[in-house]
Amino acid sequence: MTSQEGRQARHRPVWVNPFIGAANPASGITAVPSRRRLPGGPTAPATVSRLIRDELMLDGNPRLNLATFVSTWMEPEAHALMGDIADRNLVDRDEYPATAELEQRCIPMLRHLWNAPDPDASLGTSTVGSSEACMLGGMALKRRWSQRNADRYAAGARPNLVMGVNTQVCWKKFCNYWEVEPRLVPMEGDRFHLGAEEAAERCDENTIGVVAVLGSTMDGSYEPVADICAALDVLEERTGWSVPVHVDAASGGMIAPFLEPDLVWDFRLPRVASINVSGHKYGMVYPGLGWVLWRDRDALPGDLVEHVDYLGGDVATFTLNFSRSGSQVVAQYYNFLRLGYEGFREVQGALRQVATHLAGQIEGLGCFRLLTRGDELPVFAFTTADDVTRFNVYDVSRRLREWGWLVPAYAFPPNREDLRVLRVVCRNGFSLDLADRLADDLRGLLPWLHRQSAPMFGPDDATSFHH
Ligand SMILES: *Cc1c(COP(=O)(O)O)cnc(C)c1O
Repeated sequence: MTSQEGRQARHRPVWVNPFIGAANPASGITAVPSRRRLPGGPTAPATVSRLIRDELMLDGNPRLNLATFVSTWMEPEAHALMGDIADRNLVDRDEYPATAELEQRCIPMLRHLWNAPDPDASLGTSTVGSSEACMLGGMALKRRWSQRNADRYAAGARPNLVMGVNTQVCWKKFCNYWEVEPRLVPMEGDRFHLGAEEAAERCDENTIGVVAVLGSTMDGSYEPVADICAALDVLEERTGWSVPVHVDAASGGMIAPFLEPDLVWDFRLPRVASINVSGHKYGMVYPGLGWVLWRDRDALPGDLVEHVDYLGGDVATFTLNFSRSGSQVVAQYYNFLRLGYEGFREVQGALRQVATHLAGQIEGLGCFRLLTRGDELPVFAFTTADDVTRFNVYDVSRRLREWGWLVPAYAFPPNREDLRVLRVVCRNGFSLDLADRLADDLRGLLPWLHRQSAPMFGPDDATSFHH
């Protein structure tokens, strides 16, 4: 074989796994390339692609993953569009003005959806996800507080942020990274999220804001945003402290406007300064995409916005991240145009139907107690019934994995650490039919679980908690 022929042979497609070595000399590869060091030289594209695809088969099936809130299904047209746009840097607005324009169209759509006083003001940005969006929301709260309390801040006053203990880990990160004291309201009894009075009680002159969650990652419940605002109104009358609210609507921001248009949780409440949502959750885009909007100029201190001109043109930016693909934003715009208000209402309504149906099925098995019913976020948490002693939620999670289902088990935070739960997140792509399969599989497991003499698994063996 000439070296020319050898090269061609190596690049020819192979129809069996090339990594069985000598049995397939056509691949030219007799050993798996180094995994933890940069290989010494190149390998043919088809071979590398096959190697990686083979290894990724070991991942779970994303659509059977009921742990995550993040989109695992998009229409083929959106899929293709995202691939085509992958080479556009979203921040490079001068080079890709059309991509940038689509971002600027999504913002007023969301402002309108959340009843912002001035829907056309461009007071908002896309982000990598809600975590970045929450950082930005929190930074604006802190800056606003420090400007209004400059004397006390300079003299060493420590800012604090009030929220429920059920808030997502990004708020703990925010407080840690930006040196803000977290004031966490614990769960008590059957209150699994922030209560209005409890929030107001923890505020003082150094409170930069209160975070209200719509809805809770722990159990899918909505926090009482309007009641929290009302309690803060009373606090302001009494003390003069004006405490703004940030609504972390990572999931609910794309559910409530369609399914509960009359629920007042958004910019209709004058105290709500900013709102975030994850485009990659119920905005139904693949990760990572988030959005954050501010009510008005007062809520977003101008000195947080930086201007850069080295990409050509003036670009105003208020994000932690800079370069990023335009794919997700374009896909969000696709979903907005594709579904419209009625389309979203239908899709989210179907999800709620699946969630409440499945919750009812699980309740009907007789061994479980529902903590939520999937009638706020299409998400519900449940635990074992009081008389169940032979198995626990970790056993159930573990056994369901044998059927390919990923249903996480975890303990609630203080003061309900005694409560161990399973949680199901229904997303687009999880049909009524699949929900019935899950209920059937769970029913099929019960005889096995009842045959155990005692629970077998504990928190360390569990499918981990996904946010
Ligand atoms: C998922 C979630 C977050 C974090 O969102 P990412 O988009 O994953 O960064 C923050 N808050 C709440 C309430 C969430 O559900």
